Amino acid sequence: MEKPIRSEKPGNPRDEPAGPLGVLILGSGPAGLAAALYTARAERAPLVLSGEEVGGQASLTNTIENYPGFPDGVSGAALGELFRRQAERFGARIELDSATSVDLRGWPFRVRTYTSEYVTRALIIATGASPRKLAVPGEQELLGRGVSYCATCDGWFFKEKDVIVVGGGDSALEEGLFLTRYAAHVTIVHRRQELRAGKIHLERAKQNPKVSFLYETVVDRIQGESAVEGVLVRNLKTGKQIPIGTQGVFIFIGHQPNSALFRGQLEMDDQGYLAVDAQMRTNLPGVFAAGEVADPFFRQVATSAGTGVAAAISAEHWLTEREGEEVPVMRA
Ligand code: NAP
Repeated sequence: MEKPIRSEKPGNPRDEPAGPLGVLILGSGPAGLAAALYTARAERAPLVLSGEEVGGQASLTNTIENYPGFPDGVSGAALGELFRRQAERFGARIELDSATSVDLRGWPFRVRTYTSEYVTRALIIATGASPRKLAVPGEQELLGRGVSYCATCDGWFFKEKDVIVVGGGDSALEEGLFLTRYAAHVTIVHRRQELRAGKIHLERAKQNPKVSFLYETVVDRIQGESAVEGVLVRNLKTGKQIPIGTQGVFIFIGHQPNSALFRGQLEMDDQGYLAVDAQMRTNLPGVFAAGEVADPFFRQVATSAGTGVAAAISAEHWLTEREGEEVPVMRA
């Protein structure tokens, strides 16, 4: 049986076939909600499918200190909530649902979710990025039992315990510093001699007595039966493997774009970042992308919100140019 097609008109019965949406936005992080705010104010009645991480990765960050307008910092969750309220104030609707497949071969575009199918004139993809995996034995098996990708979510469970943080970027140091609130000790394991993180995090980490560093070292295996008990690390210079006892392994080695749904339908680079021009247009007219799914360079909350705004303005121009155009009969 065909799944119901959802209506653009608030109040229409969910299962009543209806005309296409003006704008459908995939993702509810800073990019998706900024796009929702702008398209809502342009009276395009945007619908946002939140995705599995409502508020996106940013909402998992304990304190965001570099989003303009918050001189004392703001928690990721609080900022996400403010984005949501502002978009909703102008009429954006947010559904707790995720796209499971898309069909961009015809127009209007079709997006299937776990529960429905949506048809839309314009699509803004703001699906973000997910934590990259180490891909070592024990990582998957001990996920949630000592292995974590989110210090804000799981740090509390490591009170007075020793933890390892893997990575040498801003996330590794920021999250490692956050973990010192709970953990007895945090060892940052980095594969090179130089850290990639910026000066502020570097200085704070170096001055924190609870933080130590293991350079030129990789994790070969995460050990433990029902919970993490240790890691087997290898020094890249000597090749020597050393077991280290630890109860937690926090992995912050970057992100990969959530673009698998669009493979074969939209242009992307070899890492999976969607290809967009300066106006956030993908190679397909009517489909725009914003935020980390299309950004291998900046990956900041502020740049994600900015590209969300740009995508919304471009979508608005595109829709205006097509005003009055017949929407083709939808395919069965
Ligand atoms: P990132 O800057 O890409 O750093 C990833 C780190 O993981 C690098 O040190 C990298 O090592 C290491 N790594 C990658 N793959 C690895 C593997 N397979 N095994 C071991 N180590 C591996 O990612 P990020 O720290 O998540 O930051 C992403 C962006 O967000 C950056 O632009 C960052 O500045 C920004 N950010 C900013 C803040 C802030 O300003 N408050 C906070 C968080 C993030 P190499 O160094 O050897 O490549």
